[in-house]
Amino acid sequence: MTTTTTQSQLALFGGPKAVQTEPGDIFNWPIITEEDEAAVLEVLRRGAMSGTDVTKQFEQEFAAWQGTTYALGFSTGTAALQAAMWACGVRVGDEIICPSVTYWASCLPCYSLGATVVFAEIDPDTLCLDPADIEHRITDRTKAIVVVHYCSYPADMDPIMAIARQHNLMVIEDVSHAHGGLYKGRKVGTIGDVGAMSCMSGKSFAIGEAGMLVTDSRDIYEHGIAWGHYGRFNDTIETEALKPFINLPMGGYKYRMHQLSSAVGRVQLRHYDARNAEILKAMHYFWDLLEGVPGIKAHRPAKGSGSEMGGWYASRGLYRTEELDGLSVSRFCEAVRAEGVSCSPGINKPLHLHPLFNTADVYGHGKPTRIANANRDLRQPRGSLPVSETIAEICFSIPWFKHYRPTIIEEHAAAFRKAAEGYEELLKDDKGNSPDMGGWHFFRHG
Ligand SMILES: *Cc1c(COP(=O)(O)O)cnc(C)c1O
Repeated sequence: MTTTTTQSQLALFGGPKAVQTEPGDIFNWPIITEEDEAAVLEVLRRGAMSGTDVTKQFEQEFAAWQGTTYALGFSTGTAALQAAMWACGVRVGDEIICPSVTYWASCLPCYSLGATVVFAEIDPDTLCLDPADIEHRITDRTKAIVVVHYCSYPADMDPIMAIARQHNLMVIEDVSHAHGGLYKGRKVGTIGDVGAMSCMSGKSFAIGEAGMLVTDSRDIYEHGIAWGHYGRFNDTIETEALKPFINLPMGGYKYRMHQLSSAVGRVQLRHYDARNAEILKAMHYFWDLLEGVPGIKAHRPAKGSGSEMGGWYASRGLYRTEELDGLSVSRFCEAVRAEGVSCSPGINKPLHLHPLFNTADVYGHGKPTRIANANRDLRQPRGSLPVSETIAEICFSIPWFKHYRPTIIEEHAAAFRKAAEGYEELLKDDKGNSPDMGGWHFFRHG
């Protein structure tokens, strides 16, 4: 046997593993230094954990970085999304349109507003909302479209904004997967009426449990304050409709950001662009090495498009079984794992099939919450969103490199190349896709 044959022998069948080098800290995130520690200690020693001074500084810096007039800190991304929905006028009986393939917090907070969600299809190449599947879902009750820049990919905002403007709908960008990403040169989160995002520890911009709302609209910003910012909902408010209710939170929630998070946020923000640039360089190098390999495709915007992934959170590869004679993605991932790389099929399951969107009566309406205040049964059974329902079969997880270290990246890329190029051998013992691919608890956060 020549060296090359030995090298290309799949590890699953006794060949040498593609990954030989210890990963070191290449996957560690977030990067915490003495600067973060000092910032946290300053707040702790001052006893200012529940204050707002650090948060307000952080908000100003974040708004400047994001390129919006306002930024408002929240306890979580979920809270920021709920506040954004309310600030956009989502009320009892209203509908929002949201992709079915996303984290639940993109839409589920609408329940607590008495509203409901109509799911739209994703595009199989972007994994984001398919602009062609929105318009026919709009009714006179539709208030807002929630666009998710899913797995860091900038969603196709131009046609979505055109549809929204034509039908007088608000657009909420969920930027939880894509901090700092670009759509045709514009930062994601600045294109819709409001951006809302998670900054919890597993995300690209990771500062602890925290969320951020960004907007150019004073009205939306102040509604965000009114909803859950006891202590800041005071006589600084300019919006007439809110003035009679100052001092008590209109949502009945308390959503202020913990100042240990804001302190970390200020430090992380100073380094984010540089660290993100290194992630971009590493991830593009990984995909450049795999260009043209059958069955697998990079999930990234075309070079020169002015669009760019933001942070590569939850990054995926696109799987195209037809190029590999029908090899199951389960079997493909098994072969990749044997090479020494963590890899699994799919990502979050489509939301429209979960019982919470079909049968659960959360508030005691005597009927499912999904349709409690709706004027029709808008539930979406299996078969109604065919692309979303194949999500587990059309993508797989890839390594999330935080540093540009060519040798390790090359070894990881080789693992995927070996599995794809060895598909004929893998087909022999392919038992097909396991029925339970994808899930709800995808990401391990320390
Ligand atoms: C993480 C996440 C959220 C929720 O943010 P939390 O800070 O965890 O509350 C919302 N949307 C998406 C797409 C997310 O990934």
